[in-house]
Amino acid sequence: MSAGAPEGAASAPAPAPSGLRDRHRAVMPEWLALYYRDPLEITHGEGRHVWDAEGRRYLDFFGGILTTMTAHALPEVTKAVGDQAGRILHTSTLYLDRHMVELAERIAALSGIPDARVFFTTSGTEANDAALLLATTHRRSNQVLAMRNSYHGRSFASIAITGNADWSPTSLSPLQTLYVHGGIRTRGPFAHLSDARFIEACVADLEDVLAQTHGNVAALIAEPVQGVGGFTAPPDGLYAAFREVLAPRGILWITDEVQTGWGRTGDHFWGWQAHARSGPPDVLTFAKGIGNGMSVGGVVARAEVMNCLEANSISTFGGSPVTMAAGLANLTYLLEHDLQGNARRVGGLLIERLRAVAAGLPVVREVRGRGLMIGMELVGDDGSPSPEAAALTLEAARELGLLVGKGGRDGNTLRIAPPMTLTITEAEEGAALLEEALRRAQHAIS
Ligand code: PLP
Repeated sequence: MSAGAPEGAASAPAPAPSGLRDRHRAVMPEWLALYYRDPLEITHGEGRHVWDAEGRRYLDFFGGILTTMTAHALPEVTKAVGDQAGRILHTSTLYLDRHMVELAERIAALSGIPDARVFFTTSGTEANDAALLLATTHRRSNQVLAMRNSYHGRSFASIAITGNADWSPTSLSPLQTLYVHGGIRTRGPFAHLSDARFIEACVADLEDVLAQTHGNVAALIAEPVQGVGGFTAPPDGLYAAFREVLAPRGILWITDEVQTGWGRTGDHFWGWQAHARSGPPDVLTFAKGIGNGMSVGGVVARAEVMNCLEANSISTFGGSPVTMAAGLANLTYLLEHDLQGNARRVGGLLIERLRAVAAGLPVVREVRGRGLMIGMELVGDDGSPSPEAAALTLEAARELGLLVGKGGRDGNTLRIAPPMTLTITEAEEGAALLEEALRRAQHAIS
């Protein structure tokens, strides 16, 4: 279309797009990812299941995208949202809100960070942006350490600390980011080392990176278990060992708990607790599951760090009343029903079951995970990463009525993160469906 000649009534109307997929393609960005050759339109959900527009039911082994923390349409959350919506949808964080204060109190107490303050955002990206703003302001430095293979979001600042170009749409950066080893146990030059030696090597790498700076680094940001990176975790204690190098230099430790928080990893409420030897992080970010699908994110930091910003600031929608009511009801349910314990028990069984499946299927190189955050890495006949096998498994699983995620360094890892109310029966059912889907994928690639 030439400039100054907008399409209008005078020009011939474009042919009507046939279905929702075509309309999506016509109006949304090309880079907006969609799963499946024939993308799904999900219309409703209940418990661990969702239904598509044709009425087909699926067991949701990806919990939305780790966003359905407890269950789809959990009555407690739906009621809290409905009650709040009936009163008022939104005012402004310039006014007091009971749910917001109470949720902040609960999260501050749970965070493990002393004298904690909480700032609510609408997403994980924005939470990480806020964390970086705090750290760089507090330290008067725009140098940040991040992990290779990390993913932290989609804003200008958070893509600047995302360690894989495939997930960073631009290489321009407002930060000077230094990448260190350690996020993935199974990749990189230290993969063959024992856990203790791996940690030693990563610490030496960190020290080497720091020795090449002017010394004034603001923070290290890390996901305790890399999410988009393929549900891959370093050995326990890595970040405690890092902390021992960072803390004497005043460098802050930001833990990105967007995927790992709220007990999903089973053994710990936060991912950082697997590294707890040297105490809590300075800053913690969260999002995804806490709103059970409502847009709740946030950052927690020691008062001294949180209060370093000089100007007054609000987020128009961060902490809006309906989302706070949802978060509070969801967190209450999670704690009262010990869903961390459920993630440990059911997740443990599911990992065992998937390992048994993997033993008979060469397409699966590894099953790894903690609690209800489980990765299955797929390979071809020659043992090399097979994104094709992952894509085929996803399609086959969908045909069988099971939704899983995928990701990882090579796009060859299935990601399993169901709602944390998953029952043993559902875990068994999902594992059986996945076994069949993997069989079909293996058959197709061999
Ligand atoms: N941090 C981590 C670890 C994530 O996995 C994600 C999203 O996948 C983000 C941050 C960004 O969160 P959001 O998509 O809510 O902006």
